[in-house]
Amino acid sequence: MTLERTLRDPVQLLDPAQYVDPVPTPGCDVCAALARQLKEAREPHGPKYDASRASDIVVEMRRHQEGVEGK
Ligand SMILES: [Zn+2]
Repeated sequence: MTLERTLRDPVQLLDPAQYVDPVPTPGCDVCAALARQLKEAREPHGPKYDASRASDIVVEMRRHQEGVEGK
């Protein structure tokens, strides 16, 4: 498993639950969709801002990657 990060960190957040993000797998539609939802949920002034939803998405992404893409 590589820890190489290919995405820029959009913002620096201090919430420890959001500190370590799963890295979306390039070419994976599920990762891409979750990453997009995560970004929306973290947009402080966005219409979909929801910090607890953001945490859920991180968990969901991690579980998806471990289950489907984990090696
Ligand atoms: Zn994926």
